[in-house]
Amino acid sequence: MPTWPNVRADFPVLHQQVNGKPLVYLDNGATSQKPRSVIDALVHYYERDNSNVHRGLHTLSMRATDGYEGARTRVARFINAADPAEIIFTRGTTEGINVVARSWGHAHLKPGDIVLATGMEHHSNLVPWQQAARASGATFKFVPVLGADAEGGLDLAALDQLLTPQVKVFAFTHISNTLGTINPAAEFCRRARAVGAVTVIDAAQSVGHGPLDVQALGCDFLAFSGHKMCGPTGIGVLYGRRALLDKLAPDETGGGMVVSVTYEAATWKPAPERFEAGTPNVADAIALGAACDYLDALGRDQIAAHDALLAQYAMEQLSVLPGIRIIGPRVGAPRSGLVSFAFEGVHAHDIVTFADEDGVALRGGHHCNQPLMRHLGLTSTTRASFYLYNTEQEIDVLVASMRRILKFFGTA
Ligand code: PMP
Repeated sequence: MPTWPNVRADFPVLHQQVNGKPLVYLDNGATSQKPRSVIDALVHYYERDNSNVHRGLHTLSMRATDGYEGARTRVARFINAADPAEIIFTRGTTEGINVVARSWGHAHLKPGDIVLATGMEHHSNLVPWQQAARASGATFKFVPVLGADAEGGLDLAALDQLLTPQVKVFAFTHISNTLGTINPAAEFCRRARAVGAVTVIDAAQSVGHGPLDVQALGCDFLAFSGHKMCGPTGIGVLYGRRALLDKLAPDETGGGMVVSVTYEAATWKPAPERFEAGTPNVADAIALGAACDYLDALGRDQIAAHDALLAQYAMEQLSVLPGIRIIGPRVGAPRSGLVSFAFEGVHAHDIVTFADEDGVALRGGHHCNQPLMRHLGLTSTTRASFYLYNTEQEIDVLVASMRRILKFFGTA
């Protein structure tokens, strides 16, 4: 493995024992750990600058406003948005997608239209679109996944058939949280644009794991969560192309997003304020900016390369275990930094519970991917997901733990 800086010292939470064993945190697909600089940004804000934003003329309010708007500019740079006004702070990916599905969906969908998603969507990028289709009378369709273990990714021939001029929106995940498949997002946006469809990318699993450039992708909307990219919980981003945002009515109304209000009516500020009613999550936005600094300082290409190497190493080590079924791309094929697997006759919840005894944090279940699980003929998988502080040695601990479990259940 190429030299990779030992970043573990930056993450206080990693330095503890769980059940008498050193913590091996492999649940990064669910949430990532936070470096000291992000924790410090939160503490600094609450200790020195805490105040409400935008409305105050006193020093603390101005500092808080500068910090909050500075974070917006920082995030815009992180994803190469053309304009900070295209960055709307949300609670996370789920809220961002709901805002688009409700605001844009309400304004643009009608009976006869098609809402297109894929067969590997997280419920957060599936249920809001099902609801938008239902509310408008549009039809909901999805691009199927290929292969019994979904090793082929999405069926691109089917995508060609499905992308007709009736498709008004194509919502898809950049990286599957269960399969580790990396979708060709720029290609999808190009094809969708050719039929006039608006694109919505779920970037929850991609944005903190490598370079991401919304202009190069050519997407209309993109949503992600701070907590999966070394930032705090409770903050996320909805990116929207300015031309689209300015034409959208807000989904939520109240203080801060209005220009003028009478007893009868109100008018809206432009984006992003239009979509941020009420007091925003100032502290977490500022700490998200600190997370962007942290990831950029390490190098986004380097993070992606590190994730990929760990995933391939895990694939090689896990694939020799007796009776294992690994889903998603095969050994050697591109995949993100996660591996999902199942053992015949052993429930994922038992695996996760046993692994915890060895200090290993995994996730077991349907991963908010119930339709995909049904397609695979599974009810659950165990998922190991890696990030910039994980090591090959930790994967060795994971594999040893799996061997112990298989022995216990008499399957090895
Ligand atoms: N999409 C994907 C692909 C995810 O992995 C997740 C989180 N598991 C979400 C959406 C939802 O993110 P959040 O819960 O932070 O809104």
